[in-house]
Amino acid sequence: MNGRERAVAGKAEARTAHAARPWEKNIRRVTPYVPGEQPQGGRLIKLNTNENPYPPSPAVREVLKAMEPDMLRKYPDPSASALVNALAGYYGLNPEQVFVGVGSDDVLGMAFLTFFNSDRPVLFPDVTYSFYPVWAELFGIPYETCPLNADFTIDPLDYDRANGGVIFPNPNAPTGCFLPLRQVEEILRHNQDVVVIVDEAYIDFGGESAVSLLGRYENLLVVQTFSKSRAMAGMRIGYALGSPGLIKAMQDVKYSYNSYTMSLPSILAGEAAVKDEAYFRESVEKIIRTRENAKRRLAELGFTFPDSKANFLFIRHRTVGAKELYDALRSKQIYVRYFSGPRVSDYLRVTIGTDGEMEELLRFLEEYLDAPAKRGSRQK
Ligand code: PMP
Repeated sequence: MNGRERAVAGKAEARTAHAARPWEKNIRRVTPYVPGEQPQGGRLIKLNTNENPYPPSPAVREVLKAMEPDMLRKYPDPSASALVNALAGYYGLNPEQVFVGVGSDDVLGMAFLTFFNSDRPVLFPDVTYSFYPVWAELFGIPYETCPLNADFTIDPLDYDRANGGVIFPNPNAPTGCFLPLRQVEEILRHNQDVVVIVDEAYIDFGGESAVSLLGRYENLLVVQTFSKSRAMAGMRIGYALGSPGLIKAMQDVKYSYNSYTMSLPSILAGEAAVKDEAYFRESVEKIIRTRENAKRRLAELGFTFPDSKANFLFIRHRTVGAKELYDALRSKQIYVRYFSGPRVSDYLRVTIGTDGEMEELLRFLEEYLDAPAKRGSRQK
């Protein structure tokens, strides 16, 4: 079944399953995206939702400290121009090339609604950010998935066919694989009649951004976030960079839905974060160093993984199953992410934490894997 057929079947099913009261037949039933767990409490190691283990720039603290409740009385600037201008300056673009939203989820959802308005299927990888099919179903957008290669890399040739648009994360999630820019460009060259969205939520951890291609491809939209490299997941800021035509189209859709998406604290704290480039570089480099060290240690413990350029690793053990490891880690209050779907159920996605957190994770794994007798005979 393709995306459109699934949506129609879902509606029919909802009608029969929920026909108890007459009004229920008109309810839009969807299967929602499931975000990672947010366990509360002090003594736990949280490596399950790709957050940054370090605080945001100290400039963000200053901005928030200076906020007075009276500042919240009025509506914020609907165009969020302070934040838009800071981002435009940072990337050397015009403000007309920047769209901001409530996390990149908001920006991506808005982009699906704006750009994927064709009867042809939108294409994205089979193993990717699990929100893409959810937006497609919500908005009734037909879609088809392109299987990743066996090593989890994207084959650009898979996107060389008639479609209603293309979207992929780079680096991909949850694999961490980075698609080199010349291959991103190959996808763009084959798809000049549709909008191509590159979701760069994790680009700052060692990838090369497609922002440099914006001048040549008016149909390219690059989406990024403050949630990972800028350590501001709680503030909810995302943005899209593209040609003025694409950005204007997104704005028209946004102003047809909710004009004031960006709160005043988000606008001001976001602006302050973008302007503190030195802090940003330093914390990103720390995470990259920790990641590279974790790669070495995990390989020594018998794990294999695609070569991640993100702030997480997608790991699989030679002999011990992922679900078993997930449960064992969880019992010690170490949270990582396990996905049960096809092709990924042998893997754990582990966010890069501080050196101390990674040390605890590695020490636990070392002991656990060293003691098969204690574990019983649960090896795969
Ligand atoms: N894209 C990808 C690939 C992601 O993994 C995430 C994080 N869940 C997002 C977008 C959305 O992040 P946010 O809404 O916090 O910007």
